[in-house]
Amino acid sequence: MEHNFENAIRLADGYSDIYINKYTSKKPLDQYRISGSLDALARQLVKDIDSVDFIKFRDKKILGFTVQDDLGTTIAINKSIDYSNHDVRIGFTLGHEIGHVVLNHPISQSFTVSSDLYDGKEIFEQEANTFSANLLLPFRVFCYQLLKGFKISQIAAASGVSNTLIENRIRSSLRRRFGIENREIDYILEEYKNCSYAIQVKNTLLVRLLYKYVNLISEKSQSYRYTLFFDEANEIAHDILDGLLGFTESDFTVYLPEEDIKSLPF
Ligand SMILES: [Zn+2]
Repeated sequence: MEHNFENAIRLADGYSDIYINKYTSKKPLDQYRISGSLDALARQLVKDIDSVDFIKFRDKKILGFTVQDDLGTTIAINKSIDYSNHDVRIGFTLGHEIGHVVLNHPISQSFTVSSDLYDGKEIFEQEANTFSANLLLPFRVFCYQLLKGFKISQIAAASGVSNTLIENRIRSSLRRRFGIENREIDYILEEYKNCSYAIQVKNTLLVRLLYKYVNLISEKSQSYRYTLFFDEANEIAHDILDGLLGFTESDFTVYLPEEDIKSLPF
């Protein structure tokens, strides 16, 4: 079975759109914060979910799971999880469990979320993680925040997500949308993380890339959530990185084959 990240991202974007229209239509995009409202979203918007319960589990390592029985589909979340960033963890876990339901994963298998959540190798776990990460922090939200000069800590505070999630979102976007290689991604991320002020953030390679990309999309009057401009995005990345990083053209290779990238709208 193959990963269906595209589907996970599309669904997450769909729910985040509903959330934005229903609850945050008056607020600017950089104040998007779905993290604390996921139980309401699950109950009201996901028809396949009958209830969300916050329970104290005896096993503190289990963050949550989903069950189907006579009462329908219930998501159970451990409210006594033992983490310093308690609310952030609960938000991610709930997003993950909603992901299993909306992605039609076989709930008959017991989906426990353990502390090695982020390293999950299992296909359904990865898809559920992708759904959760994209629901909590959609591309257009962190794009907007970065263009406004937000540091990682400010994005984390605004959206109620972990620094790790933000780094992963930036990494996957640079890889999938722009075809940038890991070593360049490390460089770009390091430069961004070293910024102390908004003005520095706005001058980073990362923000310059995103700025050009957003302009490209608006020129084409396209949504930047689903559509891919891989060739153009790769060209933008090439223009910005070439020279600045001292790489020659032949050094700059596409990380994933284009067909693989086309299957990922991200
Ligand atoms: Zn899971």
